[in-house]
Amino acid sequence: MAATLIDGNKIAGEIKEKLAEEIKRLKEKGVSPSLSSIQVGEDPGTKVYVRSQKKSCEKIGIEYNLRQFKEDVSQKELEDFINHLNEDKRVSGIILQMPLPSHIDGRGLQRMISSQKDAEGISPANMGMVVYARPILGPCTAMAVMELIKSTGVKLYGKEAVMVGHSDIVGKPTTLLLLDKFVTTSVCHIATGERGTLPEYVRKAEILIVAVGKANLVKGEWVKEGAIVIDVGINRVEGKIVGDVEFEVAKERASFITPVPGGVGPVTTAMLLKNTVEAAKLQAK
Ligand code: NAP
Repeated sequence: MAATLIDGNKIAGEIKEKLAEEIKRLKEKGVSPSLSSIQVGEDPGTKVYVRSQKKSCEKIGIEYNLRQFKEDVSQKELEDFINHLNEDKRVSGIILQMPLPSHIDGRGLQRMISSQKDAEGISPANMGMVVYARPILGPCTAMAVMELIKSTGVKLYGKEAVMVGHSDIVGKPTTLLLLDKFVTTSVCHIATGERGTLPEYVRKAEILIVAVGKANLVKGEWVKEGAIVIDVGINRVEGKIVGDVEFEVAKERASFITPVPGGVGPVTTAMLLKNTVEAAKLQAK
């Protein structure tokens, strides 16, 4: 039986609708959320993201301010700009667009963003709160994965999950959020792939999350019958965007599956907007 598609656009739309109402109420109290975005260079992917972030923000009443720097900008100039944004009371949230040129220490810059303005929820302080199961500004993609799983209505307690990928911004925080829901979670990474045991892990996953960035890494026939499949990967193959899971076969085995595009992506953006609103509230306190 074919899986039910988890409609990321619909879930994101519902989150944004609630946010728009909340923003209206906040503005009546003199609180105006704004997101400051930092872009370096001319990466085509970043341009697309920035355009879509601007549109999404403005649609629900968040002011979006983009500052573009040339490819050869210095680390110091970017640090000074982040310090300026941290101090500026009109700025609720800050996002540093990736990728950055190789002479820039992106991690260092991200660490400088005030944890109260960290719209992506990836600063050490905000990541730390994930460990304590109390994310304040949570890591957007991991929070999006949890929203998508929640939308299935499946009870999570005691389920077996497999997280493929252990990156700092997706795999690790998602694992912690799953543990918080009493999901027994295995984490696979490059060494699992090299050892050749990835199929074994995937086969036992009642909830499978894949965040690697390799098209069709997870074969559809590995997917457990009735599994929930959340595909975070974004890959361009022959001009088309695809995920990390072999979708056509996987959807015949899973009970729920996210499409790529239209799954995790829109909900991640909705989480960015949610964090910006939360950041505005934190600063108004
Ligand atoms: P990343 O930092 O490159 O992490 C990829 C992870 O996959 C690493 O932990 C890596 O392990 C692991 N890996 C590599 N090859 C593997 C294999 N053969 N078997 C098992 N694990 C393997 O990437 P990321 O930032 O987490 O992003 C992952 C994907 O999600 C990318 O396609 C990205 O574009 C996409 N993404 C989508 C959204 C969205 O909103 N839809 C948001 C964020 C990211 P090692 O580190 O040990 O090599």
